Amino acid sequence: MMLDRKRILNNLWSEIRGCVSLVESNDEDLLDLVEKLKGFRLNLKAKHNASNNQSSKTQDIKLLLGASIPSETLIKLPQISKNKGSGTTTSKRLKGDKEKAMEKNEKKKRLCRGCGELSYHDIRNCP
Ligand SMILES: [Zn+2]
Repeated sequence: MMLDRKRILNNLWSEIRGCVSLVESNDEDLLDLVEKLKGFRLNLKAKHNASNNQSSKTQDIKLLLGASIPSETLIKLPQISKNKGSGTTTSKRLKGDKEKAMEKNEKKKRLCRGCGELSYHDIRNCP
């Protein structure tokens, strides 16, 4: 049995869209459709669980999603950062630079005989 599954799925989507556009302005019809679809879905789910055919189920969903939803509307998977860890490296490097700078300043310090502290001044310009 060869079915044009893609075409049928496209028809399915247009049926669903048609239903939605017909009921969206009427609260009662809207709730009715939701309930009917929900019941239908639960029925199908029970059937699928009974047959326990997970792989074909997944394939069906993929086909269904791929059939007519434009790719832009498909949920975009979060991109795994290729620069993982670079932030840490940067902060480490910055810290290193800062420490080097501090060491440099440390060397410029001299012991002031005026106040007895390591400072950037000496006894001649001690505050
Ligand atoms: Zn001083």
